[in-house]
Amino acid sequence: MSEAGDLIIVGSGPAAWSAAIYASRAALSPIVLAGEQGGGQLMLTTKIENYPGFPDGILGPDLMAGMRRQAERQGVKIIDKNAVKLEKSDDLLIVSYGNPIPEHSENSDDQNVRKSENQKAGNSDTPILRQSDFSGSPSVPSILESKAVIIATGATANTLKLPGEDRLMGRGVGTCAVCDAPFYKGKNLVLVIGGGDSAMEEAGELAKFVNKVVILVRKDVMRASAILQNRIKALQNVEIWYKTEAKEFLGDKLLEKVRIVRNGQEEVLAADGVFYAIGHTPATEWLKGSGVNLDAKGYILTGLGIEAGKSGLQLPSLYPTSTSISGVFAAGDCVDSRYRQAITAAGYGCMAALDAQKWLENNG
Ligand code: NDP
Repeated sequence: MSEAGDLIIVGSGPAAWSAAIYASRAALSPIVLAGEQGGGQLMLTTKIENYPGFPDGILGPDLMAGMRRQAERQGVKIIDKNAVKLEKSDDLLIVSYGNPIPEHSENSDDQNVRKSENQKAGNSDTPILRQSDFSGSPSVPSILESKAVIIATGATANTLKLPGEDRLMGRGVGTCAVCDAPFYKGKNLVLVIGGGDSAMEEAGELAKFVNKVVILVRKDVMRASAILQNRIKALQNVEIWYKTEAKEFLGDKLLEKVRIVRNGQEEVLAADGVFYAIGHTPATEWLKGSGVNLDAKGYILTGLGIEAGKSGLQLPSLYPTSTSISGVFAAGDCVDSRYRQAITAAGYGCMAALDAQKWLENNG
């Protein structure tokens, strides 16, 4: 194992930090590319009461800050920049970060500069982690090289960017009712936007706590599986409003009302909460052209991802979190479209770090 380290971790949510903590304790000297905003989806939540170990709950940003501090205390090096490209070159993995890769960069001077800097550093046959900092240049990204990479870039809950959304996100407007439903205990009305399986699941969870749940479906049919639809339709306190769209969230410090258009008619509803369940977008755009196989929605395929079985892709079974590129592992919501919880992402990160460690031992 090189003293300089062998592992780059991309991301800064629970999967990334738990991977970093485990990798650091395995003396892999990981570098975390944490992104410019950092912290992932938990930065948009308020109190988290389902993460074990915090009996009184913890604020999402505090949980993230704590994980980051724990990684820092273990000596993890952190770079607060976005990864923009992953490439494999012989036995090395190259992660570019910072400035976006110019469109023409494949054969461009930029690329040549980066290659020659690598050669100058004499790294072609020494697969250690190295940083070439070109941050002075307006167009050339910086690069990191390593033998192994863990991708934990997460996913973003899709929202409609409605008026009032930024102000009230986490204050009545949310993206995870499974996480937040108990906070709405005894409330009169909570809305769910969407008609897929997630919307059914969110509505079912809310229905345990609130007096009335209304699902707003933009079309006259729902996409959700029949079994989940039937389960929801059987609940007394859930209504489904078809051909209905939310248009605006109203309220100063907390959500008070939602302006909707139902069957072409505008209404303003007094609502205690509203949850988006209109899908997620994994943050994997930057992997285009890298050779990391993604599913149709952009989730990374690994041996543990739910789509992997369906895809027929042969993935190395020795390392369940491996992607289609040897030495590249993936963890958390960029792989997992199903569970999407902080605790499952953290568990995934741990698994990826253990797989990367084993892989490095076998391929070092
Ligand atoms: P989906 O992509 O399946 O559904 C998204 C829903 O949001 C659709 O009803 C869609 O409507 C609606 N929608 C999209 N854009 C808008 C918009 N702009 N305005 C209003 N509505 C919109 O996402 P899910 O998160 O529900 O599910 C993701 C995956 O996870 C699926 O494969 C699902 O099966 C799986 N899953 C499985 C569960 C289970 O088995 N228990 C639970 C949760 C998820 P439209 O139909 O009109 O496009």
